[in-house]
Amino acid sequence: MREAPSPDRPEAVWKERDMSGGAPVDAMVAILRTDGCAWAKKGGCSMCGYGRASVRGVTEGDLSAQIGEVLSRYAGEPFVKIYTSGSFLDEAEIPLAVRERIFSEFAGCERLLFESRPEFVTAEAVASLPRNATVAFGLESSDPEVLERSIGKGFGPGDCRRAALAVKGAGLSVRTYVMLKPPFMTESRAIEDAVSSAAFADEFSDEISVNPLNVQRATRAERLWSQGELRPPWIWSLIEAMRRMSGTVRARVMSSPSGGGSARGAHNCGACDAAALAAVERFSFTQDPRDLDAPAPCGCRAAWESYMRAESLLGTPSDLDRGMFNDLMMRM
Ligand code: SF4
Ligand SMILES: [Zn+2]
Repeated sequence: MREAPSPDRPEAVWKERDMSGGAPVDAMVAILRTDGCAWAKKGGCSMCGYGRASVRGVTEGDLSAQIGEVLSRYAGEPFVKIYTSGSFLDEAEIPLAVRERIFSEFAGCERLLFESRPEFVTAEAVASLPRNATVAFGLESSDPEVLERSIGKGFGPGDCRRAALAVKGAGLSVRTYVMLKPPFMTESRAIEDAVSSAAFADEFSDEISVNPLNVQRATRAERLWSQGELRPPWIWSLIEAMRRMSGTVRARVMSSPSGGGSARGAHNCGACDAAALAAVERFSFTQDPRDLDAPAPCGCRAAWESYMRAESLLGTPSDLDRGMFNDLMMRM
């Protein structure tokens, strides 16, 4: 049985590599446990399982203890990312005093990234941000229909644009997350949607991070996935979307797919997944489109192309790798 999460301990802390000031640097990532995303309490987004990382009744003292633990793991990395499985700028999640403490503890690092829904980006909140702040927004898609029907995001693309421009207007950085293949979308439509969302986000983003759908537990996406009505995107689709964004947007294009290579995350045939994901990672740092050219010669690339043709013919985003469609696919 899963142990009850402890309110005075962060959900996770780890180290990774990312970019700052145009160079690869060490980064520390911390996920704080908070009361949870305000939108998740109203039903939340179709693919989001972050509610599981939240604990009701987290106090300011608990958050202070969590920050203490995060600081004990901090080794001076130039890039620090503090996530909350919700909105860092929502005072119901992170009270003002805690926010100020985090800003002051990490005042010396090059970049301090946190995420927020646009409705918490008020003029007052923007004025309180430190010079090293990067605000991340989960735009997901620039198509209002997709946001409303497929994701249930609870805001429109214009809301995200307004908030991001306010952050940019204060001279700070913005990272925008674009989703690849939200529920009810075919593979080819998903590539189109991600590419046009990146074009929309480019105006207000320093970085565009492409997030392929990852099927999280206890979500509406998981229900569709378990019924075979959804397949997370192929890594080939991620590569294709990034290749098309490259050179057409000014922002740095990156991706670090959660669950990549597993049945719940972006995956290919299994044999080439690691090499294909390594190419995505390389490109995220170098921005050199040659890193995305034929990164992993594999027969499944042709299967991916057939998959997209089959989806278009059948007009369904269901998982064609499963069940009765398999034979049909093989013949196409
Ligand atoms: S994806 Fe973000 S906004 Fe949507 S429910 Fe999850 S934490 Fe909240
Ligand atoms: Zn393969």
